[in-house]
Amino acid sequence: MRAIVTGAAGFIGSHLVDRLLEEGYTVIGIDNLSAGRLENLDNAIGSPSFRFIRGDLLRPDEWLEAFRDVDIVFHLAANPEVRHSVREPLDHYHQNVTVTMHVLEAARQNNVKLVVFASSSTVYGDPEKIPTPETHPLRPISIYGATKAAAETMCLTYARLYGMKCLVLRYANIVGPRLRHGVIYDFIMKLKENPMMLEILGDGSQRKSYLYVDDAVEATLRAVEHVLEAGKREEVYNVGNTDWVTVREIADIVVETMGLRCVEYVYKPATPDGRGWPGDVKLMLLDIVRIRRDTGWEPRMNSREAVRRTAEALLGELGRAHVGGHHGRPSRVHDRFSS
Ligand code: NAD
Repeated sequence: MRAIVTGAAGFIGSHLVDRLLEEGYTVIGIDNLSAGRLENLDNAIGSPSFRFIRGDLLRPDEWLEAFRDVDIVFHLAANPEVRHSVREPLDHYHQNVTVTMHVLEAARQNNVKLVVFASSSTVYGDPEKIPTPETHPLRPISIYGATKAAAETMCLTYARLYGMKCLVLRYANIVGPRLRHGVIYDFIMKLKENPMMLEILGDGSQRKSYLYVDDAVEATLRAVEHVLEAGKREEVYNVGNTDWVTVREIADIVVETMGLRCVEYVYKPATPDGRGWPGDVKLMLLDIVRIRRDTGWEPRMNSREAVRRTAEALLGELGRAHVGGHHGRPSRVHDRFSS
């Protein structure tokens, strides 16, 4: 199989590339390195089955030829920052929706068999039902969630209209080595700067589901296999964990992993109901019955373990400089709220 991975130098994309090469795929990775890093592809570069194109998906002339004779496109390139989406909605739209249109057009023109789209739990907004099934209405509360809902609708419509297959994967929070955004990375960077105090965006009670990246990649490949074998034109799967953790619990795990003590937590709610920023979904737990039933996939690590393993991996990658060497359970002097 010949595959293209967009966003190949990013967090999930680079893990997917590694795994596809292990599985015997020929892989072309496309990334503009706006957020991705070439070192994420250290394992892949040098493999005769891998080719990297530094190109911007907003500029098809930089990469269009690569779509010739490709079987599957894994479209992961996007700006995943909810806060950026709220500040710069139009730019975010182009990075997430216009880019997807260029990828779909390239896929259509080159008779690509299957487009896999990396969507997100944020398409549901504040769900009425938890765990949230795929059939739940899409009511995003951030521009990021809205761009994912729009882009997945375009992907599914291309499948119905032009005969390609489309697989939409609505990922929960995916974590693991190479992660450079989100709450775990944010906490580690802040604590490296000041090991005595941790600013927590929101009131700390936000509760969400976290999935280790190896589990997410496994789910992705199982879902692809199923769609191809079952001859389905389109499919949508939630990909998440069966449990969830609060932001405050994540802070405790990070503090403990860093071997810190006496860290003061300062909460900074952005809304009266304690969200971290406008557009932050407070409660997220996906119903994963459908993907389990169809593919037999099961997460191997729960949310808490995924967070701990990620904190350990990131500390290894980022170095432990400026981090206190005290060991033992974390103890806080007190919690404080700031406006
Ligand atoms: P990431 O930022 O690490 O990776 C995205 C990659 O896309 C980056 O390497 C970036 O350089 C590249 N990119 C962005 N715009 C581009 C453009 N115009 N042209 C070429 N390359 C471009 O993010 P990630 O966490 O690996 O997320 C991958 C995908 O999964 C995204 O679509 C994201 O929205 C989705 N997703 C991620 C999570 C998560 O928790 N990490 C959860 C749900 C959905």
